[in-house]
Amino acid sequence: MDLFGGIEAGGTKFVCVIASGPDDVRAEKRIATTTPKETLDNVIAFFKEYTQSTHEAIQALGVACFGPLDLNPKSPTYGYITTTPKPGWANVDVVGPLKAALGLPVAFDTDVNGAAIGEGAWGAAQGMDDFLYFTIGTGIGGGAVYNGSTIRGLVHPEMGHVLLPHDRQRDPYPGFCPFHKDCFEGLASGPSMQDRWGKPATELPPDHPAWALEAEYIAAAMQIFVSGLSPTRVILGGGVMQQEQLFPLVRRRTQEMLNGYIQSPVILERIDDLIVPPGLGNRAGVLGAVALAQRAVK
Ligand code: ADP
Ligand code: ZN
Repeated sequence: MDLFGGIEAGGTKFVCVIASGPDDVRAEKRIATTTPKETLDNVIAFFKEYTQSTHEAIQALGVACFGPLDLNPKSPTYGYITTTPKPGWANVDVVGPLKAALGLPVAFDTDVNGAAIGEGAWGAAQGMDDFLYFTIGTGIGGGAVYNGSTIRGLVHPEMGHVLLPHDRQRDPYPGFCPFHKDCFEGLASGPSMQDRWGKPATELPPDHPAWALEAEYIAAAMQIFVSGLSPTRVILGGGVMQQEQLFPLVRRRTQEMLNGYIQSPVILERIDDLIVPPGLGNRAGVLGAVALAQRAVK
């Protein structure tokens, strides 16, 4: 079995695995996100130690990374994290040091594009060519696979930053996105729930009005992306979506907001098949990185 390295690069931790697939993970390590140099040195050491101690070759590395990122292979700063507010991490080369130290092909994409690829390979979107993956957690991001490839374009999609209808009578909370205030992330991420309700989302009981409001915003975003991109499936992951009561609420409001216009039985009769939780659970990110690596050498 060919082995691949996967790195889920996040703002608090880098999760590294060596695997041939989800059922064959040979090694795994969580590395705290500190300074770029220290973090990447620790990542490199993990992969080097594995190949030196086992004499097994790794074919390629995949990095599913927090952003924003430069994904344009023609750009001089390809493989960099660009304008992140995370201290010390703006304009940091991620791909360069990994490639130089490990001498492997490196596939690089956003964390959510990576998770989408993972869900397509082994999770809730197997066999599908056109689908979306969202994380609703500390931030909100969307990854998109169309014709079997991730969408990049000018930079890469930032689906968490669309502006949503905001009824200020029902919800006077102004939103916390530093760029847009009441965008999707500003209104519906975990920290925005904590800010609005005065306690962490994890401590709000299932019958709290917070969840109907949360579902309203997620459904408004679904209205935008289901109309705009016609995905065959939308996977909703991230910590906040562990509140399972959100799924029926989001599905019903999405259907209501689409209002019978899009003539597909998947929307009209089987919306449970359209909006689903991740098949890989919280492993989507790191397994997605492995799937990115696999695709790099196929
Ligand atoms: P991250 O986005 O940092 O990778 P998560 O997807 O777990 O990590 O998102 C963390 C956010 O999700 C926090 O704001 C937290 O309050 C919220 N969260 C985590 N687990 C739950 C849960 N079971 N129910 C509701 N909110 C949760
Ligand atoms: Zn925003």
